[in-house]
Amino acid sequence: MPAGYISSPQAVVFILYSIAMIIFCTHCWEEIDASLELCPICGASSEVDVRSYQEKLIGALSHPLVSTRARICWLLGENKVKEAVPALIQVAESDPDIYVQKAALEALGTLHDGRAVPLLAQVGNGSNRFLAAAAQKSLESYITR
Ligand SMILES: [Zn+2]
Repeated sequence: MPAGYISSPQAVVFILYSIAMIIFCTHCWEEIDASLELCPICGASSEVDVRSYQEKLIGALSHPLVSTRARICWLLGENKVKEAVPALIQVAESDPDIYVQKAALEALGTLHDGRAVPLLAQVGNGSNRFLAAAAQKSLESYITR
């Protein structure tokens, strides 16, 4: 991104706002533009009730596809869905796929919620180096922010 692009306060506000508007189709779980009324991928009408959208997202953490579960973790973090913290902790502890576990650990870092600290510290000191690195990085974000 060119440096001049974010020099005006207005542009910064717009960027933050657009991050909050990332949504997934709750039918096919493809990422879609929040302003569209119909999903361009599967044609389902997009969810307008934000609360039930978040609940559906949390429910999709048990989606059968690994790539979808990992994206849901990321999305819950990016959209600051604090209600997802207990579910993300569970995914980080027990998802059968290590990449989904990593995505959950990263989302817990993004969400910056104290409930995740014991788990991040535990995994960060654990024997699995791949997950330990992700947990430590998430934990660092709690200290530096
Ligand atoms: Zn769709």
